[in-house]
Amino acid sequence: MRIDILTLFPEMFSPLDASIIGRARKNGLLDIHIVNIRDFADNKHHQADDYPFGGGAGLVMMPQPIFDAMQSIDGWEQAHKVYMSPSGKTLTDARAREIARTDHLIVLCGHYEGVDQRVVDHLIDEEISIGDYVVTGGELPAMILIDCVSRFVSGVLGSSVSAEDESFSHGLLEYPQYTRPADFRGLKVPDVILSGHHANIEQWRREKQKEKTGKVRPDLLKEE
Ligand code: SAM
Repeated sequence: MRIDILTLFPEMFSPLDASIIGRARKNGLLDIHIVNIRDFADNKHHQADDYPFGGGAGLVMMPQPIFDAMQSIDGWEQAHKVYMSPSGKTLTDARAREIARTDHLIVLCGHYEGVDQRVVDHLIDEEISIGDYVVTGGELPAMILIDCVSRFVSGVLGSSVSAEDESFSHGLLEYPQYTRPADFRGLKVPDVILSGHHANIEQWRREKQKEKTGKVRPDLLKEE
């Protein structure tokens, strides 16, 4: 999958070199490019933002550098173009799975007060929010989207790890997990987990999933 990120802060993306995403990039499963919007500003000071028409606090990212940065990307017209925005639809597991099926994703990161509306109206296919709160820029939200989508790209998690047995994959939160030792300072792992009886373990896990989901996210049970 090819992913292009449009940002004013390319230096923020070093997490995409590490761990599972970093390995997937090295293996050629993810082809991630970072485009510095400021490089496309056609004014002498490389200014990419300006005061909002009509007044109001803060600065708005100007359309020209974003349009030119977007249009510099090979295949941008066919790509799925997302703007990270608190006023977008909230990212879900289901939406991330769908996006993972596209070959080319372009993610625009806002900063300051966000981007000129003409960018959203004429360049963007979808606005995505990471939750009902506001952070200072779209860079962390973009990394969350990219990480979440990448888990559903074939091969990224490796053969031993599945994206199918996680919180939300069956509409429930995950069951408790344990590892060695079976007795840590008197804190014991539940007997059923050590029993080796797969059907009982499955049943116990399902009960725990329902219990936790009912306590923490009853809204998910209603959707089941
Ligand atoms: N003025 C905007 C508003 O009230 O909706 C908030 C702008 S925010 C300070 C700057 C940038 O951070 C946004 O353009 C967006 O790219 C990103 N951002 C902030 N919160 C976000 C969220 N919950 N989900 C996705 N992106 C977010």
